[in-house]
Amino acid sequence: MTDMPSAALFRCGSYEREEVEDRLDILLESLGGMGRFVLPGERVLLKPNLLSASSPEQCVTTHPEVVRAAALRVLEAGAHPFIGDSPGLDGFSSVAAKTGMAAVAGELGIPCAELDDPVPLPMAEGSVFQRVEVSRKALEAGKIINLPKLKTHAQMMLTLGVKNLFGTVVRQRKASWHYTVGLDRDVFADLHLDIARSLAPTLTIMDGIGGMEGRGPGNGRPRMFGLLAASADPLALDLRLCTLLGADLQAFPLYRSARRRNLVPKDFGTTAGDLPPDFVFEKVDIPRLDSLHLLPALLDGFGKRHLSSRPVQRPRDCIGCGKCVEVCPAKAMTRKTPNTIYIDYEKCIRCYCCQEVCPADAIGFSRGFLLRVLDFLGR
Ligand code: SF4
Ligand code: SF4
Repeated sequence: MTDMPSAALFRCGSYEREEVEDRLDILLESLGGMGRFVLPGERVLLKPNLLSASSPEQCVTTHPEVVRAAALRVLEAGAHPFIGDSPGLDGFSSVAAKTGMAAVAGELGIPCAELDDPVPLPMAEGSVFQRVEVSRKALEAGKIINLPKLKTHAQMMLTLGVKNLFGTVVRQRKASWHYTVGLDRDVFADLHLDIARSLAPTLTIMDGIGGMEGRGPGNGRPRMFGLLAASADPLALDLRLCTLLGADLQAFPLYRSARRRNLVPKDFGTTAGDLPPDFVFEKVDIPRLDSLHLLPALLDGFGKRHLSSRPVQRPRDCIGCGKCVEVCPAKAMTRKTPNTIYIDYEKCIRCYCCQEVCPADAIGFSRGFLLRVLDFLGR
């Protein structure tokens, strides 16, 4: 086991059933096989990214063929898988139906359940808080197999394996964490890392076949990366993927959090697979993060106004669903007409949850004045 690579990355060119199963088998084999990760009789939570009621082609959620292939291998290992997540806003049954999870569960005869019923999870390291409430179903599962989607993220740069486990926090409580953590991405990354290390998934399998770039996690552009990746350590996997996507590791909040806490795995660049050693995806559209917290705390208000991008709603694209108003943790949004949302920028904490949940891509960003000056100066 000590000779195992920190992660494995293999090409997978499509979601054709045979190809996904075949590539997953090669991936698992390179890490010691599914039997290394689950034992016969164990209840295993399969935790995909089910952000919203989106079709698989939109690349917002983990593809059902990846979830299906993973579930099959868990069944073959003699364990009892179930699919679960806590979508941010849309009802679970519509999310399960639209994303294809309900069909996979029906075909394989396994449960597909909302992660509800919050219970306290003591944080193993407690860098932000001593405990965080997560779903009892996640806490009481014998093992967790983490099934994230490879996507960019407007607030956190990338959403990969570590952040996917924040999905075990039950629904509205996610918003209250956004509000508690406020503007500070680094603290938010600390929280994600705390949750991931406390839940300690036995295995992370990344659906990077069809991913998302640009304004992820909900409104970016689908992009075929053609990649299936896995690791026993979601942090090692995320850091490797960050470099593979050509993103700036030093700007990645998760990396900064891990570095501060001395948790960066020494061997995260050592991976098995069929990619050339120096391979990097070309021209991936990675969101540029704002320079919040360059200033002392007393000047935070100034920083928020001038060094951050603010959300801007576009009434002409709005379909009047009201999801942004509902999700806003700072209660900074008010509906003026069915399609016009007023944003109180003094209250707004720049968490971009509104942009994340908007189904019509009707919320964009306006960069702060100083950011535009810095852009001009070629920072
Ligand atoms: S307006 Fe949008 S970015 Fe601002 S606090 Fe509300 S959800 Fe977050
Ligand atoms: S801006 Fe988006 S989320 Fe808000 S009401 Fe309009 S369509 Fe819905």
